Amino acid sequence: MIQTLRGTKDIYGAEIYYWQHLEQVARQLLQQRSYREIRTPILEMTELFARGIGETTDIVNKEMYTFLTKGEESVTLRPEGTAGVVRAYIQHKLYGGVQRLWYMGAMFRYERPQKGRQRQFHQLGVELLGSSDPRADAEVIALAYTILQTLGLKDLVVSLNSVGDSTDRDQYRQALVDYFTPYRADLDPDSQQRLDRNPLRILDSKDPKTQAICQSAPNILDYLAQPSRQRFERVQCLLEDLGVQYKLDPRLVRGLDYYTHTAFEIQSQDLGAQSAVCGGGRYDRLVAELGGPDTPAVGWAMGLERLILLLESQQTITPPAPDFYIVSRGEKAEGYALLVWQRLCQAQVRVELDLTGAKFDKQLKRADQSGAKAAIILGDSEVENGTLQVKWLGEGRQETMTVEQLLNLTLS
Ligand code: ATP
Ligand code: MG
Repeated sequence: MIQTLRGTKDIYGAEIYYWQHLEQVARQLLQQRSYREIRTPILEMTELFARGIGETTDIVNKEMYTFLTKGEESVTLRPEGTAGVVRAYIQHKLYGGVQRLWYMGAMFRYERPQKGRQRQFHQLGVELLGSSDPRADAEVIALAYTILQTLGLKDLVVSLNSVGDSTDRDQYRQALVDYFTPYRADLDPDSQQRLDRNPLRILDSKDPKTQAICQSAPNILDYLAQPSRQRFERVQCLLEDLGVQYKLDPRLVRGLDYYTHTAFEIQSQDLGAQSAVCGGGRYDRLVAELGGPDTPAVGWAMGLERLILLLESQQTITPPAPDFYIVSRGEKAEGYALLVWQRLCQAQVRVELDLTGAKFDKQLKRADQSGAKAAIILGDSEVENGTLQVKWLGEGRQETMTVEQLLNLTLS
């Protein structure tokens, strides 16, 4: 039997209603805030991600689905959305003023699948390009927060940090190298490599021994120069004004040079090891890094599978039932049923047509199971009289009427 690949899954049945609910809530809030959707290709040149995510990251080093095309071009299934959005921003010169963009779609990372961690997964993300105002940082964080709150998700924690500008970070990097070098042999192998290539990322390590060593590592906040510090304080004030609750986490760092100032993550305790539902921050140097003009930007991405796990554990979303379930038997009645179905569809009511041609009691049983308010029963005499038998399924009452009478009842 051919089955889905490891780390990928079909989304169907009751789960799909959670996805639709999530998508609907997000779209509505994004539209309301004047974010515009952008859809970029899933397949991009490998170089985009190598440059846009960084050669020293796990994503680029270990997790990318990269292959050569028949024309010997190296291409990659996107592991995240920002690089593609920034490429599009530059390619179409969406410059001038502020661009508020959002995207939603499948991402691919070759990782060990676990609960909340897949190889094909989905992200919703926003990118606000063209503003370095601290209000932009507050705006996007508050937006993520509002989406999660509107979904009714509980027990979420916003962690906030600043990684300063590149001068702050150069000094901090040196301090980390000085601190970690004596412990080199005790670090996990990945972190030993990071010590040479990208020491900030050691703070990200999930290895318990490395984490213990990180406990007393220098604190980035001690390395922020005055302007960076003031900027960070301003972001915090704005978040407080907006009612966003957060906690400071100086270990929340993004190791790459184009990440600047604000970094944040939203976690849930209810997700076990895969606790992050949203990650983001400011990336003032990425657009230039990818060949565009100097453009400050800030954004985030949410992992939708993790949100769905939370939604499913915290609330019940029932699938929408049809208003009417049409049952019919006999050739004439079946043709008539299709016309009644069309008339009801045109009137925007929810309707389901039984196509089985089974005995009436069997069809009526399915009508009950469908959750419809009423079954519309059509046989030869209904065809002759141009009427419907309407059986109200809750009460069992049955009455005869025309389609228009039924619609008047329903729509009034
Ligand atoms: P993690 O530390 O869990 O690997 P990350 O730092 O790699 O996360 P980001 O690149 O910041 O994650 O992506 C943003 C969000 O996308 C994450 O917070 C998470 O919710 C989700 N995400 C990332 N990788 C996966 C995956 N393999 N499967 C499902 N969701 C994922
Ligand atoms: Mg990861």
